[in-house]
Parts: sequence; C-alpha cells; structure tokens
Amino acid sequence: MVEKTEMKFDPEEVIVEFEALTKEAGKVQEETLQKILEENGATEYLQQWGLNGRTDPQTFKACVPLVTHKDLDTYIQRIADGDPSPVLTGKPITTISLSSGTTQGRPKFVPFNDELLESTMQIYKTSFAFRNREFPIENGKALQFIYGSKQFKTKGGLAAGTATTNVYRNAHFKKTMKAMQTPCCSPDEVIFGPDFHQSLYCHLLCGLIFRDEVQVVSSTFAHSIVHAFRTFEQVWEELVADIREGVLSARVTVPSMRSAMLKLLKPDLEQADTIYNKCSGLSNWYGLIPALFPNARYIYGIMTGSMEPYLKKLRHYAGELPILSADYGSSEGWIAANVNPKLPPELVTYAVLPNIGYFEFIPLRVNLDGLEPTPVGLAEVKLGEEYEIVVTTFAGLYRYRLGDVVKIKGFHNATPELQFICRRNLLLSINIDKNTEKDLQLAVEAAARLLVDEKLEVVDFTSHVNTTTDPGHYVVFWELSGEASDETMQECCNCLDKSFVDAGYMGSRKTSAIGALELRVVKRGTFHKILDHFVGLGGAVSQFKTPRCVGQNNSTLLQILCYDAVKSYFSTAYC
Ligand code: AMP
Repeated sequence: MVEKTEMKFDPEEVIVEFEALTKEAGKVQEETLQKILEENGATEYLQQWGLNGRTDPQTFKACVPLVTHKDLDTYIQRIADGDPSPVLTGKPITTISLSSGTTQGRPKFVPFNDELLESTMQIYKTSFAFRNREFPIENGKALQFIYGSKQFKTKGGLAAGTATTNVYRNAHFKKTMKAMQTPCCSPDEVIFGPDFHQSLYCHLLCGLIFRDEVQVVSSTFAHSIVHAFRTFEQVWEELVADIREGVLSARVTVPSMRSAMLKLLKPDLEQADTIYNKCSGLSNWYGLIPALFPNARYIYGIMTGSMEPYLKKLRHYAGELPILSADYGSSEGWIAANVNPKLPPELVTYAVLPNIGYFEFIPLRVNLDGLEPTPVGLAEVKLGEEYEIVVTTFAGLYRYRLGDVVKIKGFHNATPELQFICRRNLLLSINIDKNTEKDLQLAVEAAARLLVDEKLEVVDFTSHVNTTTDPGHYVVFWELSGEASDETMQECCNCLDKSFVDAGYMGSRKTSAIGALELRVVKRGTFHKILDHFVGLGGAVSQFKTPRCVGQNNSTLLQILCYDAVKSYFSTAYC
C-alpha cells in the first residue's frame, strides 16, 4: 500500500498541500494541538496538569509547564525500562532515539514513533518538491554519507538508536528516496556497518563506481561531507587502485561489507584512469566533487548553525556546484523545511510545517520587570524578532524547550520562515561576559583570516572556560591544516581575544577580571579522535556536531584536547 503511494509521489501535489497548510497556519496549529491532546490526554504526564479534556491553546499554556529534557528524563527512562502504562503517549512507544547531546557531552534519550517518521518524510518531500522545481533531477543516485549508529535494546527491550538511524532503517525512508529518484548508491551493509571508517571508505568507493549516475551528494549535516572529502584526499589512490583491479582494499575487513562491495566492484581500467587524471589535474582539490561526479546537480545537507564553519571548505570542494541547505529539526521532532533552495546557506530560512507539531516561541528580549516573556504562538511571531523555540510533538513532548534560537525572517503564506541563529545556552561565560556559539564562530572566522597568507586553514575548533586559573580565561583549541609561524599564531590569538566584542567580556578583560585568552594548537587528527569518542558513546556520525565548548565535566574530551595540544599562545591584546 505504502509502496503504491510512494510510486505516485508527485512534487506538485506536495506543494499544493503545503500551500494549503501554510495559508491556514494558525488554524492548523490549533487543530494539531487538539489532535495531540486528544491522542495523549489520558497519559500520566498530561493528567497531572488538570487539562480535563480541554485542548485549546490557552488552557494548554495555562496548565502545562515549559520543560527541558531534564524534567522529562525520569518519564522517558521509565518508558525505556519497559513501563507499559501510558506515560507520555497514548500509544506505546517502541523505539527510543538518541539525540547527539552535543551540549551535555552524552547522548540523551527521546521517544520516537511512527508519527515522527511520517513528519520526517513530509519534511523531506516538501523541501524536495521545491528543490526539484529549481534543480530537477532525473533517475539517478545519491551519494549519501549516512551512517547508522549502533542499535541496542534498552532495559525494557525497546529498540534504541539515533533518530537518523531509526529513519534510515525504515522501509518507508527507502521508498521515499526512490520516489525522489535518488536512492542511495551504497548498500545497507555499508550504511549500517559497525566501523564508520570502513563505511566511509565504501561510501566513497560506491560513489566512484556509480560516478556517472550520482546526481546528489549529501549527508544529514555538512560536516560529514567535508569529512568524507578530506578523507578522500588521503585515500584516493587506494580507491582508484580498487576500481582498476576490481579488488577491495584490505582496510575493509567487516565480512558483510566486503561481500556487499565485491558484488558491485568490477575491474574498470578506463574509469580508474579517468578518476586518476581528474584528481591529478585539480589544484589543491578545488572542484573535487564535480570532477568526480560529472552529473551531480547539487550538494545537500544541513549547512547552517554549527555547520557554517565547514562551508568554506565545502565550497572549495564544490567548485561551481550549488550547495543547498537541508531542513531544520531535531531528534525530538522536525520543525521546518527549506522551501527557498536557491538561497545561499548563509541566508537560508526554514518554513514551519504547521501540522507536524505545536510550536511556541519565547521572545528573547527580556521584559522590563526582568521576567522571561511568555511564549507566543506561531501566528503571533513578529518579523525580525528572535525567539527560543518550544515544541509539543506527537511523540510525547509537551512544551519542550529545544534550546535553539531562531529569527523570523519572513513568512510563507501565514507560516513563519525561520533563520537558525544558535543554541540558546551560553558557551563562554566567566562572570558578566556572555558569548554564544555564534560569537565564538565569528571570532574564529576573523582570526582565521590571518592564516590566509600562509595558505593555512582552521580544520576545526572548540573552546573551554578555564577557571582553574585565577582569574579564569577562555581557551580556544584549533586544529590547523599545516604549521603556522609563532608570529602569525600570536596575531591570531590576539585577534580572537579582540573579536569577543561583548561588553561584559571587554570590560572584564580591561580590568583583568578575566585573564588573557589562550589559543592552543592541537595535533592533526585530534578532532577525528573527538568524533571517534562520540561514536563510541553510541552517537552516529550522521548527527555529529563538533562540541563548540567543552565543559569541565566532559573530562574525556578535555583530556583528548589537552593531551594533543602542541603549542599554546596567550593574548597580549589587552596588555
Ligand atoms: P540532533 O537531535 O542531535 O540531531 O540535534 C538537533 C539540533 O541540531 C537542533 O536542536 C539544532 O540545534 C541543530 N540543527 C538541526 N537542524 C539544523 C539546521 N537546519 N540548522 C542549524 N542547526 C540545526
């Protein structure tokens, strides 16, 4: 039945549906809330708030409190431990997702169900429909750098894996990809392989085997694409040799992956020569992706927020090929689709789908009385304002603070178009200073410009607040693509310090209430170790986001960074 529907998937129909939904966004939101509360009103969680069957937004907001993951942790844990009673949802939850937990340093559990899968497909189809108008693709394949995480059973026997894994494993996902004419060119054995280094190698090899058919190069988050082509730079000759001889590299040891790959791999001298010549002819790998995949139409993945620092490198690999940002959501639930695919990632906005959840927006500006403003509904947001987003989902989260800050950049019919700004929580703060992930990103961008003359780049970065010194100070960790002179690094360090223009920081620096910023250069490969560590905790590479600040309690990461630090510089900017 599903198969039939998917075969008939008509992008124009999807757009018509989306237009209808967004024209009545306010009304659809009320209906969606009503549906969520009708389905789940009898749950233990909602019963305690005295809704007494009422499903209107006013009662809902008055009765049910705003929460964070911490408030729901015990409920979710009980579900994971096998409590069969309706705890958070009317229908039993059978699957748990692990969110990347970038901020906490540990993946956290969130409920997953069919409705979430449905909304994922709705989001995929919606953005695809708009994308396909501008960048049509014909029958082809997608080189998707996607990786399943380890799946395990919770104590109560529920399947647990990252949200992306729960989606990729589902037959519905594959059918939708097929209907979009972009099935993944890698077999399941590669996507779900137990060793992501081997999976990555095989993804690259599959891409090369099907190089003429590849129309889209994608991943969930742009980091995975950049990571893949950085790896390509290291292993390309081995890949070419595999294609030349039709023999799989000995680095792939997982039996299921080997046999799946051997079914695809045939000796192809001509193709091997072409790839070899293409790669040899590139200057510093500029335009690598279109050189490898001549029929690729675009590169696709989430490129906003913490992915922005990888854009420069991605553009380098992409050459003239368009790079398109994917949609906005989280393991907790999807929120919005990119329906303006032509916008460059820096300007991308996401249109909220009003029927996939109930959304509230907490204005960021603080009230005169110092109290946090009350959240407003989707139909009440104001153009140009910034908000923290609050979600109520079909999967048992009610008035849940996601921790993301978005800005209203416009409207698609009556639904807001959001720009992702940053995570709400402060990254760097010692006393009265306040710096977010975005502030750090801008400081790093400014300082990295000083490396251009030495033809170097910041491969990745993170930060830490060191309060073991008196006064405390910011530490920024950089992995560089090569070795820079001490003089340049000192300048970068001073520039970083000066680039935090928050008044609290500048004032504290001037009065030495905050010590000199420290820039530590770490060895090449350090951020790979961080990725490995994350994967070891059960995370999936597909959802990996480099933590931009490592807290004192995240001792393993801190150890990796400190152990791998090769040089350290202290700012003299305020001397
Ligand atoms: P996870 O559930 O682990 O995949 O992480 C979800 C988080 O990723 C969201 O709360 C956002 O902070 C971030 N995220 C997801 N989509 C986007 C996007 N399109 N742009 C920027 N950040 C995003």
